[in-house]
Amino acid sequence: MAEDKLPTRAADFAEWYNQLVLKAELADYAPVRGCMVVRPYGWTLWENMTAALDRRFKETGHVNAAFPILIPMSFFEKEKEHVEGFAPELAVVTHGGGEKLEEPLAVRPTSETIIGYMYSKWIKSWRDLPVLINQWGSVLRWELRTKLFLRTAEFYWQEGHTAHATNEEAMEETYRILDQYADFAINEAAIPVIKGVKSETEKFAGAMMSTSIEGMMQDTRALQCGTSHFFGHNFAKAFEIQYLDKNNTLQYCSTTSWGLSTRMVGAIIMTHGDDQGLILPPRLAPIQVVIVPIYKNEAEKTKVMEAADKVCAELKAEGIRLKLDDREEVTPGFKYNDWEMRGVPLRIEIGPRDVEKGSVALARRDVAGRDGKSFVSQTNLAATVNGLLTEIQSSLLKRATEFRDGHIFDPKTYDELKKVVQNGWALSWWCGSKECEAKVKEDTKATTRCIPFDQPGGTGTCIVCGQKAEKKVYFARAY
Ligand SMILES: [Zn+2]
Repeated sequence: MAEDKLPTRAADFAEWYNQLVLKAELADYAPVRGCMVVRPYGWTLWENMTAALDRRFKETGHVNAAFPILIPMSFFEKEKEHVEGFAPELAVVTHGGGEKLEEPLAVRPTSETIIGYMYSKWIKSWRDLPVLINQWGSVLRWELRTKLFLRTAEFYWQEGHTAHATNEEAMEETYRILDQYADFAINEAAIPVIKGVKSETEKFAGAMMSTSIEGMMQDTRALQCGTSHFFGHNFAKAFEIQYLDKNNTLQYCSTTSWGLSTRMVGAIIMTHGDDQGLILPPRLAPIQVVIVPIYKNEAEKTKVMEAADKVCAELKAEGIRLKLDDREEVTPGFKYNDWEMRGVPLRIEIGPRDVEKGSVALARRDVAGRDGKSFVSQTNLAATVNGLLTEIQSSLLKRATEFRDGHIFDPKTYDELKKVVQNGWALSWWCGSKECEAKVKEDTKATTRCIPFDQPGGTGTCIVCGQKAEKKVYFARAY
């Protein structure tokens, strides 16, 4: 499997991605069109991601719960924009137990409606607020063009839904979560995302304001890695989520929702991978270190395996996630390729001479060939390995940040914008009109990704129409 080569990224980025997902055994196509099977290696990666996010949510007072996968169709009619946004993507259950249902049930595409319904029952007084609930699960949006992890009908995610006494508190929550997403993306996934506000066209159906974190993939296309939405009173009015304030007056709650999905796995692949395969950030990698023993005969094998077992036990005791690849039916060279394909950050090679010298060879996945190799003592190996894993983590982030910054442009004219978005992002003044946004999309396929919080200040002229503009926006082709 590992020996047949991937297409290079330069030759065919899309096909490189597709084959990599399959060869690294992250996911596979399901017999149901549009669906994917996440394989154990991919799921372990996702579990590490969920743990890192879940910890952050809980640190800020959020709790997990589970809501049903089926939602009465009538719930979707209650919020006009929401129903318009999601109607084309709904899968609907019309029969159960051989009988036609009185009311069809939608398979959840997202859970604002059913959670809103429950909140209207649970929330009575200001004392009940805020409600800070998150749910881990999967949702279904009818998609026929499958791209594993990036666009599948069913995908896995978390969706947070919160209710607050005031708009101010709900806005604070929206930004707090966006900060957590950015912190997760940057410090766990080593993806240097940009935080900002979505345009009216790109915002979530039913939201007053949507925010997102946007990452640049190695083909320079943008990938929305997570979103956090402020609803104001929109859903509270639709679902009558109300509370009695301290003066005994009935008030509407202000609500938010926020989600990060298995798309993020796709972001990790496309941000860090190379022509040999996956490169995983050590903090999330299912296997951080693989040990490959090297020997030619039984006598060497006995000595080498003894040393390998010892190293293995020491590193495991330090909490390092590792695998000793003691397969006998394949060569060390095959094993190197195999683990490179799967993106294991660090490889330890132990041969007979290493045993004699009390050393091991270390090979970094992120630095190819001799430059990525070092020969170190077996003494204090855990500390050496931990240090190197930390270095790999930060070097991945640095590399991705340099790549991103090298592909963000400040075009001076509209013609120049049309050129730069073919191989990068444009950070340009924009008047905010839908017409200018639509023109860019029609001319270049680039959309507004986000209006970054980080603004140059002052005003400029819209790159499209030349009118006065208050904000700069990122234009990019996106996944
Ligand atoms: Zn304009």
